[in-house]
Amino acid sequence: MTTTSAQETEGLFQLPTEVEEFRQSARAFAEREVAPLVDEAERTSTFPVQLFKRAGDLGLLGLQFDPEWGGAGAGLLPDLIFREEVSRVCAGIAAGLGIQGQIGTAYLARHGSSEQKDRWLRPALAGDLITAWALTEPDAGSDVRAIRTRVSRDGDTFILNGRKTFITNGPTAGAIGVVARQSDDRFAVFVVEAGDEGFECERVLEKLGCRSSQVGELVFDNVRLDESRRLSPPEGSSIEAILDVLIRGRVLIAAASLGVASAAFDMGLAYAKEREAFGRPIGRFQEISMKFAEADARIAAARLLTYRAAHLCDTRDAVPIRECAQAKLIASETALWVVDQMMRVFGGMGFMRGSPIERLYRDVRYFQIVEGTTEIQHRILAKELGL
Ligand SMILES: Cc1cc2nc3c(=O)[nH]c(=O)nc-3n(C[C@H](O)[C@H](O)[C@H](O)COP(=O)(O)OP(=O)(O)OC[C@H]3O[C@@H](n4cnc5c(N)ncnc54)[C@H](O)[C@@H]3O)c2cc1C
Repeated sequence: MTTTSAQETEGLFQLPTEVEEFRQSARAFAEREVAPLVDEAERTSTFPVQLFKRAGDLGLLGLQFDPEWGGAGAGLLPDLIFREEVSRVCAGIAAGLGIQGQIGTAYLARHGSSEQKDRWLRPALAGDLITAWALTEPDAGSDVRAIRTRVSRDGDTFILNGRKTFITNGPTAGAIGVVARQSDDRFAVFVVEAGDEGFECERVLEKLGCRSSQVGELVFDNVRLDESRRLSPPEGSSIEAILDVLIRGRVLIAAASLGVASAAFDMGLAYAKEREAFGRPIGRFQEISMKFAEADARIAAARLLTYRAAHLCDTRDAVPIRECAQAKLIASETALWVVDQMMRVFGGMGFMRGSPIERLYRDVRYFQIVEGTTEIQHRILAKELGL
């Protein structure tokens, strides 16, 4: 049996000092740059696009990507801390920034040529170009193999036809990674630019929560693209190869869930100490204090799973599918449970439009849907277990 030193054991449960220090910078960005914009952005359902540039200037977009293209080469863990801290202040704004610097540019960062990275990744990470990732269609969400958007060759060029929906940053994006069917069982990823003939964002969708992230329905009507737009290999890819890059995105959704759960917890705790009933603060009633005890433990457990998954993503060659699914499942469901409990702590005040917990109650529903629903995480885990 091998022995583990006390220091190494501690390392299993604590983030590296530099990552904790980075958390302070991420929190400062969230509180100073994001927080003042939240009310207006949520009220008007508009993403404050100036934040892309601000985050890019501060090197906060693409923390996990190669420094050659403007990333920080810091791995997934700091990126996750950034997502957690911004989500603590506003899940919608964090979602828009997350597509830009994390999920939407991941395929380009992995598979793009130097010319393609120079053209789209570098300006995206600098905050000069807004990006989106378009996979979901009206008739194909969880069932990604059912997508109908099709790309076909026409001489030296390609023609793209189809429709994508629920696309974050779709209404404002300058470059969109579009997943299309190339043949019966091969898929391709092409970059469509705003202004390409035949492409339009047909409508901006109204949402229950995360209102400050803009989501659109995109139409591709005989969009003609040259070879420089193709990110995938000429023979196409299996859908698994395309999704492989996105699995790490599940950990980022887990981190965002932690941010919202922590925000709800802090808000609820302050209220429980201040609000009085029957001559004492409500937090002194066991029925209320137990909610905090339980939430504290559940958030801590979700946090450990999330950081472990990120650590494994950073240190293993193979994507840790099982650990990513565990983290996404537990963190997103924990956030839902915590926000629900905190709503109860706020009583009637929580039900009032405009109360801070009311926004979290709407926003938290996002996490059980994106990057694979809860049911899809169950399927992934069951499959990993041979069921
Ligand atoms: C705010 C928001 C932003 C988004 N941003 C993007 C984006 O930027 N880019 C993008 O491509 N997509 C985006 N999406 C789409 C998102 O990824 C899909 O909504 C998600 O994958 C679920 O697909 P669906 O909505 O079609 O639901 P469906 O797949 O129709 O699922 C409906 C229900 O059936 C369940 N279900 C489906 N299949 C199974 C199964 N095999 N076993 C058990 N249960 C099953 C689901 O869990 C769910 O409960 C976004 C969605 C939202 C809400």
